[in-house]
Amino acid sequence: PVYLVINDGKVSIKPANHLKGKTVTEKTEKIKNDLSDSDFKVMCIGPGGENLVKYATVMFGGRAAGRCGAGAVMGSKNLLAIVVKGTNKITPAQPEEFKKAVRMTMKVVKENPNTAAFKERGTIGDMPGIDVEGDFPTKNWQSNSWGKGEEIYNYFSHNNLIKNNMCYQGCPIACGRIVQVKNGQYKTPVHEGADYESIAAFTAFVLNEDVDAAVNCTYLCNEYGIDTISAGASIAFAMECYEKDILDQNNVDGLALTWGNA
Ligand code: SF4
Repeated sequence: PVYLVINDGKVSIKPANHLKGKTVTEKTEKIKNDLSDSDFKVMCIGPGGENLVKYATVMFGGRAAGRCGAGAVMGSKNLLAIVVKGTNKITPAQPEEFKKAVRMTMKVVKENPNTAAFKERGTIGDMPGIDVEGDFPTKNWQSNSWGKGEEIYNYFSHNNLIKNNMCYQGCPIACGRIVQVKNGQYKTPVHEGADYESIAAFTAFVLNEDVDAAVNCTYLCNEYGIDTISAGASIAFAMECYEKDILDQNNVDGLALTWGNA
């Protein structure tokens, strides 16, 4: 395995045996140490991509290129990370036209009522409404509503949420959330995550009412580099198979795959 370094346009390929099997955070830290420069930006796969999981992600810190298995594509090429640093300026072909387009777009985004809602409550703030409207993926879509969306959101905002966050300085929406699980069985460090789809996948989809467990699951998915939505959906599918006696404990390492069993 290797990783690719692009430093001010100069490309080099580095050996990456020491990164094999490491989580996303571990890879990111080791690469920055290797290069003795914390200014490098690291985009990497986790063990999920290395093992060619069909829904492996490419991770950039806590942000994921999450769907469609791009991480497995990198893994199939033994490419564990792409690391970039640059000092050149980016000059638009038509600077004035570009600025005008940016100003116009920012105005449209800022004036949209959803912008304030996403900033204040994040995408997970939609959960109570989605549950009521009947678009909540419940029990492997055996139902479209659970009746617990508001309860889950309230627990999350009182116990897990620390503050909102933006992917880049200047995003007017800032829908990201910085979260943690402070104590207990599912204690989870401070990280960026817990978007609506991820928490829905590990609560309603599998009938799990333990929000701390759901936050921990999404954190682990990001560290292992697998898509949160597909991971939750896979577990929900397995639980339905278990319910219908298509799977039993012998098939699943002795786990009791009952609904809601965190
Ligand atoms: S760029 Fe802004 S709106 Fe888009 S995901 Fe990041 S924080 Fe949310």
